[in-house]
Amino acid sequence: MELMSGNEAIAQGAWEAGARVGVAYPGTPSTETLEAFALKEGVYAEWCVNEKVALEVGLGASAAGARVLATMKHVGVNVAADPLFTAAYTGVGGGMVVLAADDPGMYSSQNEQDSHYYARAAQVPMLDPADAAEALLFTREAYGLSERFDVPVFIRSSVRVSHTKTPVEPGPRTEAPHREYASDPAKWVMMPAFAKPRRKVQIKRVEALRAWAEECPYNRVERRGGAVGVVCAGSAYQHVAEALPDASIFKLGCTWPLPARALRDFAASVEALYVVEEASEYLAEQVRALGIDVAAFPAGLPLDGELSPGAVRAAFGLAAPEHHEAPAGLPARPPALCPGCPHRLVFKELARMKAIVTGDIGCYTLGALPPLSAMDTCVDMGASVSMAHGFELALAGTEHRPVVAVIGDSTFAHSGLSSLVSTVYNRGGGTVCILDNRTTAMTGRQGNPFNGETLQKRPSRELDMEGVLRALGIEDVRTVDPWDMKAVRRALKEAVAADALSVIVFRRPCVLLERVREAPYAVGEACTACGACVTLGCPAIAKDAETGRASIDAALCIGCGQCSQYCAFSAISSSAVLPNGGTADAAASPSTRSRSVDGGLRAEARGASAIPRISGTGETLADLGGPVAGCGGNAAGAKGGAHE
Ligand code: SF4
Ligand code: SF4
Repeated sequence: MELMSGNEAIAQGAWEAGARVGVAYPGTPSTETLEAFALKEGVYAEWCVNEKVALEVGLGASAAGARVLATMKHVGVNVAADPLFTAAYTGVGGGMVVLAADDPGMYSSQNEQDSHYYARAAQVPMLDPADAAEALLFTREAYGLSERFDVPVFIRSSVRVSHTKTPVEPGPRTEAPHREYASDPAKWVMMPAFAKPRRKVQIKRVEALRAWAEECPYNRVERRGGAVGVVCAGSAYQHVAEALPDASIFKLGCTWPLPARALRDFAASVEALYVVEEASEYLAEQVRALGIDVAAFPAGLPLDGELSPGAVRAAFGLAAPEHHEAPAGLPARPPALCPGCPHRLVFKELARMKAIVTGDIGCYTLGALPPLSAMDTCVDMGASVSMAHGFELALAGTEHRPVVAVIGDSTFAHSGLSSLVSTVYNRGGGTVCILDNRTTAMTGRQGNPFNGETLQKRPSRELDMEGVLRALGIEDVRTVDPWDMKAVRRALKEAVAADALSVIVFRRPCVLLERVREAPYAVGEACTACGACVTLGCPAIAKDAETGRASIDAALCIGCGQCSQYCAFSAISSSAVLPNGGTADAAASPSTRSRSVDGGLRAEARGASAIPRISGTGETLADLGGPVAGCGGNAAGAKGGAHE
């Protein structure tokens, strides 16, 4: 017996079933699944540039006879939906399992859509584990199901199942029987002449799946009292079992197709039947569509967010279970970019110039929050670039604030690239900032084409980002160190002034990637309590409630020097160069500090200066017209224009 998360158990189940190929684009809460699979013996696993590509690679491997695991978060299913719907026509070769990991409560997502609807719409069976043991079992068995019915099979998990560790009994690997590939255009070439007969195959398959669902061993009834019956699945089952110990439960292991006869029998055996599900009405709608009366909750079940035993009891008008309140006065931990984050100054400067900033999906979305407050939109992967083009179209011919798209390197590879191709093709303008921190940071620092790191550390090649941009015909491409305030300010100013489309690549590794620390910075006696440095939102900088003076937490500060460039009073210096600090290892200017950009000019200590310098050019803040010109000068008034 071992403890495994749902994600680890899905990987184990796939491995036990003999899956040989794993494909994914990382996305919380699904990411660890492929990472766990990649570590197993006898498998090949890769990060793809996006979920559509992942599903297509997986479908190709399946067609050629391999058992395949494709994993993605719920919004990734949107991206993969195009091949998914047609894969439900072609069917599979080797068994194909697709993990759709939902995020009710939106802990790390832009919406909380319910992947059950995809199963129904694509007519792809969906198994819905409630813990890690079921995740392993259902995944392992899903391969046989996939090959028996010639269809991909969904495993649907939610964040609670994906990330909670529960006991599992891992087993040995069974090598799947080799399936020889033979050309079969009528099955695999989905032109209308072949797709029409495959649609009929699909319809017949659905009939067979509905019959199978009636006997599905993963659906079960837990008979208790006859007054209340609850239909539920996945993590909702755990909450119902805890909250309603007297209720009879129809626990669905297969949530599409539903076992119509079994559900009708269950409904007839209880006085009132309820459906409990998270952030959705999918199950209730489907059960009603079977002609079953679904009772209304006496006090209503939330339509959004994760459930809990308390929420389930509240829906039935029952008292919440006992629980301990959090102690009063705990310090708040608002989400913020990390100390030393290379995205910070870009957002600070975009706010300062009052740009309309179309943002994207990644840790840099935190640039939308105070005190940076520098993002106007964030919708989906790649949307920053295409929405910026839309803004430019609508604002054409008017006096308007500069329009700037901000996108990370991995998101750019995912779908920003195709958005940019479209903008170039249509002769769009504006400025695109690519925040290249050399990793897919938000999901845990995975590789991507622009850092050239593959999941299983196989030899690869790093795509030349600037080369790709120039090959698209973008003439104004610059590369800037985002720790260098003057260089950031100048590049943005020049780029937005140009008529033509421009791209700035802000390149510096995520501080969590190499975990390089320099001597911390410190605030000296010259601090006038102006508050400018606090507006950077670095978690290491605090403001004294009484004096207003800044202070730096040496345990958090990584010594990036960004804040020192915003202090007009030269009050912030590296502790390595303070009068009693001694060493000259850490200088105040980013250009003289360690960097691993472009081959890694690490630890270039060129001497220290107690006077903050900017970008290693010898210029001081005064040369730039002040460090925070046009920038309120206090934390609350961090930026002007529409963001204020
Ligand atoms: S910017 Fe300088 S003077 Fe202003 S609060 Fe920060 S340390 Fe003090
Ligand atoms: S040097 Fe300044 S901006 Fe950088 S981590 Fe330390 S306190 Fe934060």
